Amino acid sequence: MQIIRVALDVPVNTLFDYIAPDATAKHIGVRVQVPFGRKMVIGVIIEVASDSSFSRGKLRSAKYIFEDIPPLPKALLDLSKFCSEYYHYPLGEVVMSGLPTRLRDSKPFVEKPQVPFQYHITNKGQLVDTALISKRSLLKHRLLALFRGSRVINLIEIKQLSAGAVKVLKEFLELGWVEESVSELRIKNDVEPVLRKEQAIVVNDIAAEMNQFNTWLLHGITGSGKTEIYMRLVALQLLQGRQTLVLIPEISLTPQLEKVFRARFPVTPIISLHSGLNASERAKGWLQALHGTAKIILGTRLSVFTPISDLGLVIVDEEQDGSFKQQSGLCYSARDLAIFRAKYTGVPVILGSATPSLESYHNAISHRYRMLHLSSRAADNASLPSIQYIDTRAIRVREGLSDSLITALEKKIALNQQSLIFINRRGFAPVLMCKSCTWTATCSRCASRLVVHLKDKNLCCHYCGYKSHIPSSCPECGDQDIAPFGHGTQRIEAALKERLPNARILRIDRDSMRRKEAWKKILDEIHEHRVDILVGTQILAKGHNFPNLGLVGVLNPDASLYSTDFRAAESLFSQLMQVAGRAGRANSTGEVLIQTKFPNHPLYQALQQHDYEHLAKMLLAERRVANFPPYVYQALLRAEAPDLSTALDFLSHVMTIICPGKNIEIFDPVPAQMAKLKGMERAHLLVQSNSRKELQKFLTAWRVKLDKISTRKIRWALDVDPVEF
Ligand code: ADP
Ligand code: ZN
Ligand code: ZN
Repeated sequence: MQIIRVALDVPVNTLFDYIAPDATAKHIGVRVQVPFGRKMVIGVIIEVASDSSFSRGKLRSAKYIFEDIPPLPKALLDLSKFCSEYYHYPLGEVVMSGLPTRLRDSKPFVEKPQVPFQYHITNKGQLVDTALISKRSLLKHRLLALFRGSRVINLIEIKQLSAGAVKVLKEFLELGWVEESVSELRIKNDVEPVLRKEQAIVVNDIAAEMNQFNTWLLHGITGSGKTEIYMRLVALQLLQGRQTLVLIPEISLTPQLEKVFRARFPVTPIISLHSGLNASERAKGWLQALHGTAKIILGTRLSVFTPISDLGLVIVDEEQDGSFKQQSGLCYSARDLAIFRAKYTGVPVILGSATPSLESYHNAISHRYRMLHLSSRAADNASLPSIQYIDTRAIRVREGLSDSLITALEKKIALNQQSLIFINRRGFAPVLMCKSCTWTATCSRCASRLVVHLKDKNLCCHYCGYKSHIPSSCPECGDQDIAPFGHGTQRIEAALKERLPNARILRIDRDSMRRKEAWKKILDEIHEHRVDILVGTQILAKGHNFPNLGLVGVLNPDASLYSTDFRAAESLFSQLMQVAGRAGRANSTGEVLIQTKFPNHPLYQALQQHDYEHLAKMLLAERRVANFPPYVYQALLRAEAPDLSTALDFLSHVMTIICPGKNIEIFDPVPAQMAKLKGMERAHLLVQSNSRKELQKFLTAWRVKLDKISTRKIRWALDVDPVEF
């Protein structure tokens, strides 16, 4: 009796056994249709066995085994298994969520030709005397001219010329005027710049160890030419016919990077997998990767699950970016999975960033990763932006805007340059602060800052649950001028309009970035200089090149310095570096003006010096003292319920169902930073340990018990290595 064990998209951590008489080991990784309850569903065969722990009478038969596409490679199944174990999430859901939706329905997938066929002109074709071709064969003339004018042309472009063009193409092929391009992967665009010395060193170092696993941390300031390095290494892979996976943050950046890669590798099949694709586009790209025809796979978080038959290199650009971590359901880190994948395959992985995450930096200085640096800008004449602070304690600020900033904006408008006003909205939770000595209320139990709850008139620690009353004066200096700190900035656009009535101002928010058309329109407006001042949040900081940007103004970044989120300072620095990097790329020094009450804060000092490493070392020292990651490993159990007390009660209960054992610390349940979301109240429980292994052991045992608790009103999820609380 032949049994298949099938991964199904159901929230139970088990595989399902079915009878499948014809199944053999070569069906592992193949899609299968099986009955489940009263429905037919699609799953993936994970194992083929000759017996089952269920009696034969209880087993049902598989209905249909798909042979439409090749099986998922073992590497991908093993990645899913690792992911399921490490993040404590059902294997079936992991496997199925990585499949494009189009492959999750019961119709077999009919594949169209994968890569458009490509052709180029031969010497013979170049020498044909066009006078000998009949004048009436207009199409022949046009097609030949097209071939003579381009290096390669693909079938789609030929079809676009005219419906009859394919017939003419066949004729050309028979005459030997054109031929199919096969070895095109070697053709490179000839405009690649000469590498600068720094870049050449990086490329050589990595290239020397191209056939083995290493995690390379490429620390290069904005504009230092990291993309150029990626492309050189990709080119080396192409020579060997191998594929590269390039992961990028979930932002509208995708098309821009895609364009750069396509310009460099005009005839290389490149696929781009991001949230803007429809189901069949995604399935098509995914299959090209599986077949090995797509040589460059560009994509956001989810594409770390793309099947890649001949993976040679993995790149994670802006590795510190929060969007690599999924925040709901399967809370995986695409960066960490990318490293697993590279290690499994025995190929290098490059983590690129101007401001590496402290986790990665820590791994680099403790020699688990290899660090490489690019410390100057790549383009000729490009210099680093000058960063200045406007001390808002000393001067008047109206509606969030200082006079100095307004003057600077006016100057740029007069020079016909664009400006960007960046509003930092992180670290929103109000903390209690003394205005004269900058004392802030901290938790004595966990060194985090206490959050002000004005409604309940108390201070609360969002890590351990500790509560205290609001003091009436500063415990440090006795001053009574203590107040919650941190405020919103919705009115900046209006205030700017009032003070600069002639400026053309454009506010950009998350929605406008998401809608493809709207975003394209905005970019056009910026590039055609129909805007003088852009106003926006962190989404504006990333990746876009605005060639005419002369000034970046930053408003109220201070809240992040005194935030309850221990990662806030790290991400503030990263954001400010990025946003500063937008200013003045080639030929003009950009200007950055930051309004702050603490111009002497070490973070701002490091920023002014463009000194990431100094800051990183300082923040790491703080983390070590406070016992925060990367010096401990954490997991959160998140719970959601219609009311907070239900969620908290659930968490209090599940703390007691297991004995934590030594080395495991469980904190009291607390409301989440975002205490309410979509009508659900949210709370969580933090578990930490200084041993990743022991934390994992604990979570595995805990998960088994959690699964047995009936949770009708509660939704819960485990988040391993959480970044948001
Ligand atoms: P990063 O990704 O590090 O922010 P980019 O790769 O976008 O930097 O490079 C910044 C600019 O420098 C780009 O316009 C790029 O074309 C240019 N550039 C990169 N390398 C070189 C080089 N070796 N010579 C001249 N220009 C270069
Ligand atoms: Zn004080
Ligand atoms: Zn605490």
